[in-house]
Amino acid sequence: MKKISTKLTLAMLSVTVAVLAFVGAALMINITLDYFSSFGREMELVFEDGRFTEIYDGFSGDTDALADYLENALLSFQTPRDYYILKDGNVVKSSRTGGSLKMTDNLRRVLDGGYSRDGKLTSDALDFALDMGGGYTAYVLDGKQALALRLRDIALLFLQALVIGIVLAAALSFIISKRLTHSIKKLEDGAQRMSRGEFTQVEVKTRDEVGGLCRVFNEMSEQIQSDFEQFERAESAQREFVANVSHELKTPLTVIKSYAQTLNSMELDADTRKKFLKTIDGETDRMSEIVEQLLYISKLEQPPAKLIRLDLKELCRQAADALLLESGKKGVTVRVEGEGFVRSDRERVTTIIYNLLTNAIKYSDEGGLVTVTVTGGDKPSVSVVDNGIGIPPEDIGRVFERFYRTDKARGRKTGGTGLGLAIAKESADSLGARLTAASTPGVRTEFLLEFSYD
Ligand code: ADP
Repeated sequence: MKKISTKLTLAMLSVTVAVLAFVGAALMINITLDYFSSFGREMELVFEDGRFTEIYDGFSGDTDALADYLENALLSFQTPRDYYILKDGNVVKSSRTGGSLKMTDNLRRVLDGGYSRDGKLTSDALDFALDMGGGYTAYVLDGKQALALRLRDIALLFLQALVIGIVLAAALSFIISKRLTHSIKKLEDGAQRMSRGEFTQVEVKTRDEVGGLCRVFNEMSEQIQSDFEQFERAESAQREFVANVSHELKTPLTVIKSYAQTLNSMELDADTRKKFLKTIDGETDRMSEIVEQLLYISKLEQPPAKLIRLDLKELCRQAADALLLESGKKGVTVRVEGEGFVRSDRERVTTIIYNLLTNAIKYSDEGGLVTVTVTGGDKPSVSVVDNGIGIPPEDIGRVFERFYRTDKARGRKTGGTGLGLAIAKESADSLGARLTAASTPGVRTEFLLEFSYD
C-alpha cells in the first residue's frame, strides 16, 4: 500500500511534467510553423521588390549587381540566409565562402527554368530558386540553423521550468499531504482508542472534507459513548433489579420454609398450627403478588393494545368502589371530584389510578381524607391527594423506583411490595403521560397524572 503522501507527490509530478511537456511541444510547433511561413513571406519581399524586377528585366549576366542586391535584401531580415548565383548549375557567386552547394530537388527543378520554393516541414532546408535567364539561377538557402537554435533555447528554458516545477510540486505535495495525513492520523488514533473503549474527541483543524470527517467522527464518538453509558446503566439497573427480585422472593420463602419445617417437626396445638398456616398463606400471597406485578411490568414493554375514549371520573369511582373494604376498615373517606375524558388505554389508566388510590388509603391515618380530582379539556389530569404520613423529601425522588419503600412504610409493616408506584410510573410513560409526586409529610401528599403535557 502506497502512502497518501507518495500518491499525492506522484500525481502532482505527473501533472507538472504533462503540462510542461504539452505547453513546450505546442510552443515549439508554433515557432516552427511561424519560421516556415516567414521564409515564404520574406522570399516574396525579396523577389517581388521593384529593384529586383529592374535587375531581373534587364539581366544580362551582371552577377555583381544581383549579388549586391541579394546580400542587402537578405541582411534586412533577422534570420541569416545564404544566396547563391549559379551559371549552368555551377556556383559563380555566393554569400558563403567555400563549401559546396547541395543539389536540392528544388534547385534541380529550377535549373530547367522557372522558379520554385520549398517550404515543407519535413525538408532539411528551406530554399528558393529562380531562373534569371541566360543559364543563370538565383538561389536562396535557409539551412534552418536559426530555427534549431531557437528550438534549443526553448527546450532549455522548458527543462529549467521542469526542474523548478518538479521541486515546487514535490515541496507543495509534501506540505499538503503532511496537513492531510496529520488529521487522518489523528482520526486513526481516535478510532483505535475507541476500539479500546476510550472515547476521545479529535481536534478539528481544517474546514475541508477531512475536517468534516473529524467532526462526524466526534459526533459519532459522543453518540456511541452515550449509548454505551446508557447500556451500562441499563445493565447495572438490570443486575440490581434481579438482585432485588431475588431478595424480595427470598424473604417470604425463608419464612414459609421455617414455618413448614416447624409444623413438620413439632407437635403443635391447633391454634398455633392455624397461625403458622395463616402466615404461610400470607407469604404465599405476597409472593404471587410480586410475581404478578413483575409480569405486569414486563407486559408494559409492549405498546398499549388499543386507545379508547375514557371517562376518567368513572374510572376513579370504580377504583374507589373496589377499595371500599380497605378505606372502610380505616375509616378513610375517598372523594371523587371534577370530570374529564382522555383517549388512552383502559387497563393501564385503571392500574395507575388504582395503585395511587391504594397508596393514598394505605398511608392515610385512621379517619383520613383522600381527594381525587379529575380535570378535563385538552390536558386532562387526575390528582390523588391524601393527608396521611407523607413522603420525606429525601425519598420523594426515589418512590417510583422498583422495590423502593420509605423507612416509614417498612416500619409500618403495611406489606407493600414497592412495585405499585413503579408500575404506575412505567404505565404512564408507556402512554406518554406524566406522573409526579409532591409531599409535605403529615400535611398533604399529591400524586398527579397528566395527559398530553408539553
Ligand atoms: P408499596 O407497595 O410499598 O406501597 P409503592 O411502589 O406503591 O410500594 O410505593 C413506594 C413507596 O412510596 C411506599 O413504600 C411508600 O413509602 C411511599 N408512598 C407511596 N404512596 C404514598 C402516599 N400516598 N403517602 C405516603 N407514602 C407513600
